[in-house]
Amino acid sequence: ATSADNLVAFGQRHVTAGISRLTEAVMTKGEGSHVSFEDGRRMLDFSCGIGVTNLGHCHPRVSRAAADQCMDLVHAQCSIAFNLPYLRLIEKLLPIMPHPSLDSFYFWNSGSEAIEAALKMARVFTGRQNVISMQGGYHGRTYGAMAVTKSKTVYSEGFFPLMPGVFSTPFPYWHQFGLLPDASEEELVRLSLYQLELVLKQQSAPKDTAAILIEPVLGEGGYVPAPLAFLQGVRKICDQHDILLIVDEVQTGFGRTGKYFNIEYSGVRPDIMTMAKGLANGFPLSCIVSRKNLTDKLQPGSMGGTYAGNPVACAAAVAVADVFKEEKVLDNVSARSHELLASLNSLRNDPEVGSAIVDVRGVGLMVAVEFVSPLYPSGDPALNPSVSKALATRVAKRCMEKGLLILTTSIYEVVRFIPPLNISQADLKKGCEIFAASVKEVIR
Ligand code: PMP
Repeated sequence: ATSADNLVAFGQRHVTAGISRLTEAVMTKGEGSHVSFEDGRRMLDFSCGIGVTNLGHCHPRVSRAAADQCMDLVHAQCSIAFNLPYLRLIEKLLPIMPHPSLDSFYFWNSGSEAIEAALKMARVFTGRQNVISMQGGYHGRTYGAMAVTKSKTVYSEGFFPLMPGVFSTPFPYWHQFGLLPDASEEELVRLSLYQLELVLKQQSAPKDTAAILIEPVLGEGGYVPAPLAFLQGVRKICDQHDILLIVDEVQTGFGRTGKYFNIEYSGVRPDIMTMAKGLANGFPLSCIVSRKNLTDKLQPGSMGGTYAGNPVACAAAVAVADVFKEEKVLDNVSARSHELLASLNSLRNDPEVGSAIVDVRGVGLMVAVEFVSPLYPSGDPALNPSVSKALATRVAKRCMEKGLLILTTSIYEVVRFIPPLNISQADLKKGCEIFAASVKEVIR
């Protein structure tokens, strides 16, 4: 099996059908904002492996740090001893936490595992069992994370019964209420907070509710930023009832939205925060942070895992933190974000294709374009044109044919932009041009 075709056929035969793929191809190389495939294709990467390679593929500083660490110590095991990169990483993270109370760290491998740990911690910290998560939220595929995930049935279909004690409440996204996109943000916040109050009165009493779990920008649920007033309102409800607030920054964290953590925009203090993805730019590493006076309630030995806090992944993450500062990555996010939103908004105003675009939204370089969807409940003919079938998938496919790797998200017709945070102005412009051309070809 040496030719690309043979390799793909081999993979199709021997890799479980439970994994879907955007393209039947073999990725062989990543360099900065580009990826190459065995079949000779090279693409501009606006996926970053789902928001992971935020400093571009194989950033030399990060790869070098990992390679050097490989020659010193590859595996230490967190229940045997500390390792140096693990402690250095905490030193880097402490000053950038969204609140100074977040001072107790625990590293894991994946976002799902971080969520599992956060759920276990919330139960121990409060002595309560239930968790409320957001409709449209995504938190992972392991059993606890799957139970709090409410973005698509494919993640739970056939896998019931799930972990009990999970309730959900609507995220302030106009679809949740069947409203047209012009519903005011204030109205959405008011409706959503009211629904949350109802859950606490009708389904899970505060004294049974350990935590409320939220992504500050819905990721797999459609790239929808939570209005700041909603986050502040949820914090207030948590304070009223001694419920913990778990903020899932697995996708939004580490600069994706222009600050280290998205929750900073709202000033809201998380009791527990999870992060992963961009943290180590591609090495498997996640982190759960909380307050020491809470984490001291955990029994020694109750947390841990063979690879948790791996020194190579931690060394990569230390390098990521250094690169963020030295290369002024957050400044680039802000500059490129304005250009990206301006380009997408001008497409929305295009007389030929604009009517198919119902929303352009996002913060930093976590940006989405939403096309009309046949799922909309409205009888408004403007929202139900015949062109609307699978628009997002068709646009993303056309982008790939033109050399831009880009993803869809949610049950609606949403294309998401997750370019590298250090992408050049020229590459961003090129990606925007490919996207605009693809939209025009698909819609015309
Ligand atoms: N939380 C959020 C917000 C995510 O976006 C994801 C992954 N898309 C996860 C948790 C799960 O992370 P992982 O795939 O690393 O288990």
